[in-house]
Amino acid sequence: MPDASARLATDLQAAFGPPRVLADAAARAPYERDWRGRTAAACVAVLLPRSVAEVQDMVRWCHRHGVAIVPQGGNTGLCGGSVPHPGTQRPQVILAPGRLQTVRAVDPDNDAITVEAGCTLQSVQELAARHDRLFPLSLASEGSCQVGGALSTNAGGVQVLRYGSMRALTLGLEVVLPDGALWSSLRGLRKDNTGYDLKQLFIGAEGTLGIITAATLRLFPLPQRQAVAWIALADVRRALDLFHALRHQIGDRLSAFELIGRLPLDLAIRHLPGARDPLSAVHPWQVLVQADGIAAGEFGEHLAAVLARVPDLASDAVIAQSEAQARTLWQLRENLSEAQRLEGPSLKHDISLPQSRIAAFIEQARTALEASEPGVAIVCFGHLGDGNLHYNLFPARRDSSTADIAQRHASLTRIVHDLVAAHGGSFSAEHGIGQFKVDELERYGDPVGLHLMRRLKQTWDPDNLFNPGKLFPL
Ligand SMILES: Cc1cc2nc3c(=O)[nH]c(=O)nc-3n(C[C@H](O)[C@H](O)[C@H](O)COP(=O)(O)OP(=O)(O)OC[C@H]3O[C@@H](n4cnc5c(N)ncnc54)[C@H](O)[C@@H]3O)c2cc1C
Repeated sequence: MPDASARLATDLQAAFGPPRVLADAAARAPYERDWRGRTAAACVAVLLPRSVAEVQDMVRWCHRHGVAIVPQGGNTGLCGGSVPHPGTQRPQVILAPGRLQTVRAVDPDNDAITVEAGCTLQSVQELAARHDRLFPLSLASEGSCQVGGALSTNAGGVQVLRYGSMRALTLGLEVVLPDGALWSSLRGLRKDNTGYDLKQLFIGAEGTLGIITAATLRLFPLPQRQAVAWIALADVRRALDLFHALRHQIGDRLSAFELIGRLPLDLAIRHLPGARDPLSAVHPWQVLVQADGIAAGEFGEHLAAVLARVPDLASDAVIAQSEAQARTLWQLRENLSEAQRLEGPSLKHDISLPQSRIAAFIEQARTALEASEPGVAIVCFGHLGDGNLHYNLFPARRDSSTADIAQRHASLTRIVHDLVAAHGGSFSAEHGIGQFKVDELERYGDPVGLHLMRRLKQTWDPDNLFNPGKLFPL
């Protein structure tokens, strides 16, 4: 560690005590590397506050000493937002509020819960369930990702269709601002028309405007029944028709509608112990469907009614007859990313499109990608009910030089993102911008919108103290 950084680390330990300031390289290392291992950069120290007052003191200290702050939750983000940017010249600390785990209030009569930012999503779901309520945000990383990180990325997941993403699930926030001041709106109000809705600025801000320390979140009745089905289809057009027909049939009780292509399913079967195709025949596309408040038998009747109206919609289907069967189907879906990781490095795209454009996009993207790189393998799955696809690629030749791979990756990504833009979609549906997609935001973002975002950042954080190199170029 250079002398100046070592001095800052020593000063931080003197100010806050060694248990709250990790300065040793080995202790810092897991915090400095992102989840996928795509980037790693050194920081001066990792700060582990145990109270909101300590967060404020640490932020003020960093402000006085010109030290940049990288907020970090569970470090499961997929765009490099939670680790230092390697190009940053000024000293940086990682501030991880993971020890702020107090449950401040559970208010079942208001269907609301107030928790600190370091609680994991899973712990919030479990707490809600103990009070006979549902906290619906659900992601494969829910055991590790934290409330603060989920808010800062406006996380989505598998039940956005019915309950919305983190934006829709938040009633209030508490935030330590870049000058150390504390702003709070933790009143659990569903209606409050008193000017700008400031909490929405921090949600999805990826730690560039302050540290979220607590949130009041919405709860819902815990569904007493749930139906889960795996349905095979000949093509994506039929999957969309089925989606609309089921919505028409059962309304907003449809809580998840996940598309799974053949290749991601094959990778899961190849790499995950015990994984198998829920259906006996091989189908090009399948959807995992969940409906809340409906038993398996009743869902079967609804599905039969839909298929009676449009007979060739589905090729085959299985409806889970027990919780264990439903869990097995969901595990298959949730482990698709892990199966891809085990297959090898892939090029990932987290895109969204108007649903009316999805079938055309999938058709056109395949043609364009195969023309550019014959043999490219396309792993397509995602939250079809939200118009969100994880559209990942295994390039055909994996034995080329690193420079060649980087260039080919860049051109494949350009094909995908240009086509997404042409269809009026977004190159980042739910994972955010972080440091990996800053150039894409500059390229595809609306210039007036980008200008407004920069002005907001300058007003809020004039010294660019919070998360430099994220959302905006350095
Ligand atoms: C296997 C897997 C599956 C996933 N599935 C989904 C999915 O379905 N949907 C989805 O949306 N995402 C998904 N993700 C991405 C990721 O898990 C989510 O974005 C998650 O919400 C990030 O939470 P975290 O606590 O790990 O945040 P981190 O990764 O630590 O941080 C993410 C961003 O938030 C900022 N931040 C963190 N905490 C705070 C805070 N307290 N105050 C201010 N800023 C903060 C960081 O600086 C960073 O910019 C998945 C990730 C993995 C590994």
